[in-house]
Amino acid sequence: MVRVDAERGVAALRAGTRISALGAPLRAAGVALLNQGDIDRQSIAGAAATGTHGTGRQLQNLSASVVGARVVLADGEIAACDARTEPELFEVVGLSLARSA
Ligand SMILES: Cc1cc2nc3c(=O)[nH]c(=O)nc-3n(C[C@H](O)[C@H](O)[C@H](O)COP(=O)(O)OP(=O)(O)OC[C@H]3O[C@@H](n4cnc5c(N)ncnc54)[C@H](O)[C@@H]3O)c2cc1C
Repeated sequence: MVRVDAERGVAALRAGTRISALGAPLRAAGVALLNQGDIDRQSIAGAAATGTHGTGRQLQNLSASVVGARVVLADGEIAACDARTEPELFEVVGLSLARSA
């Protein structure tokens, strides 16, 4: 985990960070994941990309908690994205599931 902004409820994480490594530092900062799956071995990027979900009809999946990302593109360029600045890239980064047009 890189940093936590408890006031905004936002944490910056490295993509390969395991969910199991998040509980203690998030709790120490007074925040937590909104929901998580049955197991906690996934990387945060893998869990978000595959739409990993926990339980509860009122709780969204993990990808719904992603508010921005820095990604390495196919040409090696590093791009930052969020819903406002790069909405198309952000949508793909947050949940890598294909959908019909
Ligand atoms: C025993 C078991 C129990 C499970 N329980 C649940 C459950 O309760 N609920 C549920 O919803 N799902 C569950 N799953 C599914 C699991 O959450 C997903 O398969 C998840 O993707 C696994 O995470 P991973 O880190 O292994 O991802 P990987 O399989 O390594 O990656 C999946 C995809 O994520 C992307 N990705 C991964 N790492 C990166 C990275 N560093 N940068 C960019 N993109 C990346 C890639 O597109 C990749 O193809 C379970 C799976 C298992 C094996």
